Amino acid sequence: MPSVIAYGCDDATTQFHPLQIDIREPGEGEIYFDVAYAGICHSDIHSARGEWGPVAYPLVPGHEFVGIVAKVGPGVTKFKVGDRVGVGCLVGSCGSCEMCESGYEQWCTSTPGTLWTYRADAEGNPTTGGYSRGFTVREDFALHIPSELDFAACAPLLCAGITTYSPLKHYDVGAGSRVAVLGMGGLGHVGVQIAKAMGADVSVISHGRSKEADARRFGADHFYATSEEGTLESLRGSFDLILCTVSADGLDYAGYMAALRPYGVFVDVGLPTEPVSLPLRAFVNGGKSFAGSQIGGIAETQEMLDFCAAHGVIPQVEMITGEEITQAYDNVVASRVRYRYVIDTSTFPETA
Ligand code: NAP
Ligand code: ZN
Repeated sequence: MPSVIAYGCDDATTQFHPLQIDIREPGEGEIYFDVAYAGICHSDIHSARGEWGPVAYPLVPGHEFVGIVAKVGPGVTKFKVGDRVGVGCLVGSCGSCEMCESGYEQWCTSTPGTLWTYRADAEGNPTTGGYSRGFTVREDFALHIPSELDFAACAPLLCAGITTYSPLKHYDVGAGSRVAVLGMGGLGHVGVQIAKAMGADVSVISHGRSKEADARRFGADHFYATSEEGTLESLRGSFDLILCTVSADGLDYAGYMAALRPYGVFVDVGLPTEPVSLPLRAFVNGGKSFAGSQIGGIAETQEMLDFCAAHGVIPQVEMITGEEITQAYDNVVASRVRYRYVIDTSTFPETA
């Protein structure tokens, strides 16, 4: 059994430190890869800080990471040693329920259901994620990284990319669509690029002005700051789709519903913790919908990677060392990251 160095935390204060973890040898249909780069998603922070419920510590997060295949188990057909590979939020599902057969492995309805990259498995054993030098995964849950994608920058596509691509695709965004991306962080800055590549007229709605030049560089046609009085009122009836990636509580959801055109949809992917209350007339008036979306299935994730490679969509990342993860968490929460931290695992020590 290979033993590798990873970074984990022992409690909700999220002080990261190196630790030695055991990784299983690749079994039937499994591959082992040397992880090169792992993105830090805001979901890692919600999870590790216990904001979504109890966590088994020590926790090694990481659900958007890439590396190079180093070993293949018996029966592997899709990967060979040396291939560029990526893993996202899920590493297992039954494969035979209606959801899995429809390509929605993230919504597997069998028991125990979808196996998330770093949660307890069916026996209750905590699994470890991508802030690690190595990872073993079923080949069916591993993605091919197209050669056009910059390897050091592409890891965030495995979560931020698919989470924004999937709803934009589902709601048929294309030429003539007016799309607003609400919140331009890790998810949002990729969502802007994807919506633009799909042909939409793209607006960014941010809580300040500081990201305007970047938004335009990512392809935004318009930029609005909610810190300026009257912004939301001025946007009434403007958008076919609003993609909300905001991680914080307290948004004016009714105001955003009013910013939709008739039959428009507000798609939330952000996961702040407080419940939301909306008057029903926010939907009735204009025939509008409030929807959610959660990452995407495996086939759609591969489709997204190929789409990003074909259209030059690439995250803007800040590379950090293992020792910088603790500070990076605070920076993400304070919206100081531009736009995704990626951990370079070659900076990890040889031993814990
Ligand atoms: P992030 O990089 O921290 O971006 C969140 C953005 O929200 C910030 O850049 C900021 O954008 C905005 N924001 C932050 N604090 C705010 C505040 N107090 N008021 C208004 N806006 C604020 O996070 P992320 O990694 O993109 O993740 C975003 C959310 O999506 C998280 O809740 C995460 O858990 C969730 N998520 C969901 C899925 C899914 O499948 N549904 C997948 C991944 C992540 P501006 O500066 O532009 O305002
Ligand atoms: Zn994520």
